[in-house]
Amino acid sequence: MADIAIIGEVMLEFSPLTGKDFTLGVSGDTYNSACTLAGLEISTTYITSLGEGQSADIIRQHAYHRHVHLLEPQAVKNKSPGLYMISNDETGERFFDYWRNDSAAKALLNNENLLLPLLKQVEKHGYLYFSGITLALMNDSCRSMFQQFLLDYRLQGGKVIFDPNYRSKLWLNKAAAISATDEIQAYVDIYLPGFEEEECLFGSTSPDGAVKRLLTTGVDEVVIKNGPENCILINNDHVENVEVTPSTDVVDTTGAGDTFNGGYIGARLSGLNPIDAINFAAKAASKILMIKGGVLQSKQLSELKAS
Ligand code: ADP
Repeated sequence: MADIAIIGEVMLEFSPLTGKDFTLGVSGDTYNSACTLAGLEISTTYITSLGEGQSADIIRQHAYHRHVHLLEPQAVKNKSPGLYMISNDETGERFFDYWRNDSAAKALLNNENLLLPLLKQVEKHGYLYFSGITLALMNDSCRSMFQQFLLDYRLQGGKVIFDPNYRSKLWLNKAAAISATDEIQAYVDIYLPGFEEEECLFGSTSPDGAVKRLLTTGVDEVVIKNGPENCILINNDHVENVEVTPSTDVVDTTGAGDTFNGGYIGARLSGLNPIDAINFAAKAASKILMIKGGVLQSKQLSELKAS
C-alpha cells in the first residue's frame, strides 16, 4: 500500500458562529489534504512542529482522531501552533487575520538542524507532498537544503507532489514567490496549481496560456484547477480537458482546493488513472462546497468512492 509524507503547518482556526461567538477548529492547507488522504485509508504522515501547551495538544488529538500520524522534532521550546481568525463583513466576504509568525512550525522550517532529521524520515515514504505555503515559511537556507533533499529523494525513486498555493502575506514580495515556485518545478512529479496562481504569478491570461507555460516546465503530470470551470490535465505532454459540474449549492468554499488535492493524490496512490482521479477529486471538492468546514469525514469519502 502506498504511503505519503506531507510537510506543512497546521493551525488553530477561529471561525464565526452567529453574533459575536466563534468556534475553534484545526486547519491548514496541507493538513486538510492529509486528513482527506487518511480518510481514504492512505497511510499519511504529517511533518510539522506544534511546540508546547494546550493548543498543541488540541491539534495532536485532532490528528489522532483523523488517523494522521504526526512527526515532530524533539523539542521546540516556548513555541506553540499558529492561529487565525475568520471574519465576515456585512456582504458575507471573508477576511483572515493570522498569528503565525512566531509559530512552532515556522521555527522548524527555519532551522536546518531540526528539519534535516525529519527529512531523513521522509525517505521511508514513497510520496512527499507540500505546498507553496510550506515553501513560504522556510528561510533561504532551509529552502536550498530542501531542494537538495528533493534531488536525492527522487533519485531514490520518491515522487514529489506540489501545489503552489500562493499567499501573498507570507512572502517578502511577489518576486520571491515567483522565484521559489519557478525553481521548485524542477523537483516535482505531480503539480497541482490553480489557474489563479498561473495568472497571478506567471501572467497567464487564459487556461490555454497556462498550459503553454506548463508544457515548458517538464513536469510529467499537471492538473490545473479552475473553480467551477473544467480542469486541465497535462500528462506527459498530452493535454486533456476534464469536465467539472458547477455546483449550484455552494455553502462554504473553504477547503475545495485542499479536498481536491487530497482526493486526487489518494485516487492516484490507489491506482486510478489521472482522469478518473480528477473525476473523483472534483466530486469530493464539490461535496465539501455544500457543507460548512474544510474536510470531509471518512464516511463521506467512502460513500463517494462507492458512488
Ligand atoms: P482553490 O480552493 O485552491 O482556489 P479551486 O477554487 O480552483 O481551488 O477549486 C478546486 C476544485 O474544486 C475545482 O477544480 C473543482 O473541482 C472544485 N470546485 C471549486 N468551485 C466549484 C464550484 N463552484 N462548483 C463545482 N466544483 C467546484
